[in-house]
Amino acid sequence: MEKEKKVIKKMDDPSGRGSLSGYKVPFPARQRPYSEEEIQTVVDVMRNTECQTQGDHMRKFEADLKAYTGANHAFAVDNCTNALGLAATLCRVGPGDEVIIPAYTFCSSAISFARTGAKVVWADINKETWVIDPKDIESKITANTKAIVAVHLLGMPADMEAIMAIARRHNLKVVEDCAQALDARINGRHVGSFGDYACFSFHGAKTMTTLGEGGALLVKSDEDAALVPGLRFCGIRGFEGERERYWVPAMSNVDTDIDGVWPYNYCMGEAQCAVGSVMLDTLTANTDKIIEAGLKIRERMSDTPEISFNVIPEGYRHVMHQFVMHFDGSAFGKNRNDLMDSLTEEFKIRCIVQYYPLYRYPLFQKFGLDEANCPVLDEFWENSFSFPWWCAPDDETIQYVVDSLKAAINKLKNS
Ligand SMILES: *Cc1c(COP(=O)(O)O)cnc(C)c1O
Repeated sequence: MEKEKKVIKKMDDPSGRGSLSGYKVPFPARQRPYSEEEIQTVVDVMRNTECQTQGDHMRKFEADLKAYTGANHAFAVDNCTNALGLAATLCRVGPGDEVIIPAYTFCSSAISFARTGAKVVWADINKETWVIDPKDIESKITANTKAIVAVHLLGMPADMEAIMAIARRHNLKVVEDCAQALDARINGRHVGSFGDYACFSFHGAKTMTTLGEGGALLVKSDEDAALVPGLRFCGIRGFEGERERYWVPAMSNVDTDIDGVWPYNYCMGEAQCAVGSVMLDTLTANTDKIIEAGLKIRERMSDTPEISFNVIPEGYRHVMHQFVMHFDGSAFGKNRNDLMDSLTEEFKIRCIVQYYPLYRYPLFQKFGLDEANCPVLDEFWENSFSFPWWCAPDDETIQYVVDSLKAAINKLKNS
């Protein structure tokens, strides 16, 4: 008798992406399944690797990340939120400082800086690319500004040339949040290789995941890079030279590299690093597939003026980590919510809306960060939505979502 196939219940996930059942096209909680090679890699580390953290797999993964992105230094860490926190530490931001951060991003882009005591100043998005607007950054710089966080949201590179020029003029640090933009490039140059620091995520919902959690910090200068191992692992370091008795102090020395800064543990385990290296091998081919699918939707929607996409500047590789569209139904008195109601109820397509302007959330309001001057974002948010997206939807699914979207808009026009 054939063994009954085990049904794994899909849980609703706290990210709000909501891989709920009952939809023809649900919003998946992760981008792609693991390959057999990736699974085998993890099993091999479990069976054969003596050292389970901070070993050869970590060093290899870091070397691979460096080679892939063209960065000067790469460090594996437990998630991108902590990579951003380390970047905040290395920027030396704290109370009295201001950090300019786009209000349109995932919350941890801002939390990691806000929790140092620095003040977050919300930047608006560019009307065409939907990522942080360099002109708006410059208008918000004050004598207290210390750093800029450039988020390559949705997989679209921020205008790094303009942002780096502003930073040079005003002597500011630049942190790139590349959580959604692994493999995104500007004229062939990878995002993450422009700023002083860059942070990546290998969370389960990202293009590549190191078993659910994971991240990386890229660092430009040698001086900063020398500080990271201690900051990442509780200030633990080896000894220079012989000790009189090897057990004094115990196993290793513990110290801080930056006065007044407590180090902590942000390490990533060996199995995660090993699978990360394997995933980097297929990453470019994977993003190529995602981009191809995304371009198909753009092309097939090009006869529908109510729907628009972010404009991809010449020479930019936008990796389309999320598939966000803007809907303009003002000519017939309809809005994004009307469209999503129709897609959900009549076409069983579960779209979501991401991301809420951060100054509207209770968390940031409770910390007094409810003030913002971001008119482009306010208009954009009211009319944008994300299509279900992963690597990579087949042609039948793409055609179904395109047909449904057009049908839903026609119905709204005629109702
Ligand atoms: C996912 C994400 C993060 C946080 O990544 P974690 O690895 O989950 O901590 C930060 N910034 C952006 C833009 C993200 O999308």
